[in-house]
Amino acid sequence: MISEKMKPLVNNNSVIRQMFEEGQRLAKEFGAENVFDFSLGNPNVPAPMEINEAIIDIISNENPVKVHGYMSNMGFPETRQAVAENLNKRFGTDFDLNNIIMTVGAGSALNVILKTMINPDDEVICFAPYFVEYGNYIRNFDGVPVIISANPEGGFMPRFDELREKITARTKAIIINNPNNPTGVIYPESVIKELADLLNEKQKEFGTVIYLISDEPYRELAYGGVEVPFLTKYYDNTIVGYSFSKSLSLPGERIGYIVIPKESDDAEEFTEAATIANRVTGSVNAPSLMQLVIGRCIDARCEVEYYERNGKTLYEALTNMGFSCVEPQGAFYLWMKSPEPDEKAFVAKAKEYNILMVPGSSFAGPGYVRLSYCVSYEQIQRSLPKFEELAKVYF
Ligand code: PLP
Repeated sequence: MISEKMKPLVNNNSVIRQMFEEGQRLAKEFGAENVFDFSLGNPNVPAPMEINEAIIDIISNENPVKVHGYMSNMGFPETRQAVAENLNKRFGTDFDLNNIIMTVGAGSALNVILKTMINPDDEVICFAPYFVEYGNYIRNFDGVPVIISANPEGGFMPRFDELREKITARTKAIIINNPNNPTGVIYPESVIKELADLLNEKQKEFGTVIYLISDEPYRELAYGGVEVPFLTKYYDNTIVGYSFSKSLSLPGERIGYIVIPKESDDAEEFTEAATIANRVTGSVNAPSLMQLVIGRCIDARCEVEYYERNGKTLYEALTNMGFSCVEPQGAFYLWMKSPEPDEKAFVAKAKEYNILMVPGSSFAGPGYVRLSYCVSYEQIQRSLPKFEELAKVYF
């Protein structure tokens, strides 16, 4: 008999995953080239060559006992130092290895961060629409997700009036994701400053610590030279969760890290607790081989131009057909208004044209759909006549 806590998860089993499986089924029936699957954020760009070269070199030349062994739960010191130096070089910070914990991707980073800070019934604020797993991660530790409603008229920026009302003495953290999944927008520096000011004001008012959790798997995926502010520079109690899943196309390898700045509240104790949380949540440590690879390839380039071209092509084509979309500034998602009020009906209609997308209600954003364009450029081009047919149903 499964637990009460798991029952709702089983009942709401990820729509995105179901879509992915549906895509596989349709591909068998119609041929992969005739199915236009925009459901999953699984990067289509191959990992940089230097990653493969590093793997081969490490397994050929390094001591296998080290390569495949346990290490400190925080990760290899040389990898953590490489991460710290990379951040310092790019953002003018002053981290060292003691500020970095290697993790099993961003998913695990978030779970470790939340386990470290949450007491039962603590509130964690998320801005709709948001990555659907946040709610599950928060509830893993008996926290309570508090949702700030979406702000379509304000370009999906945070609604500060509602945020101000919803921060209480129980607020433990706020999660932001910049560049954003699912909207593709980037919060500019002015928004981050306003957020930092409000959090500082509320910490004072309640005499509490309110963490800003910065979930950053898409940090490098910012288009046209748009700056993504590095949050530890704006707000002391920022904890960063990062992933190489998207930037280096390594989602199956499960590698990321946490940054705990020394300015944050009780930083040393927090770091020690997060290291233990890494262990007791069962990850123990981030994958050893991948840590060694990242230590060597920390400066590897993310192919942001590839996604930028995909996003631009899809945005322009769909907008010209009459669909209303948010112009993507980063990540690799197009957030599109459903042309009928029930976006699930629209998603079902699109499936009749072998186009797969995810209903916005999966991100607490009903009335919209998400198209994940980390696919081949050819798929985008081949899909456009089908989108034309779909558009004719509505416009
Ligand atoms: N956070 C966001 C916003 C994501 O979109 C994803 C993955 O799609 C994750 C976290 C989890 O990433 P990872 O593969 O590193 O666990």
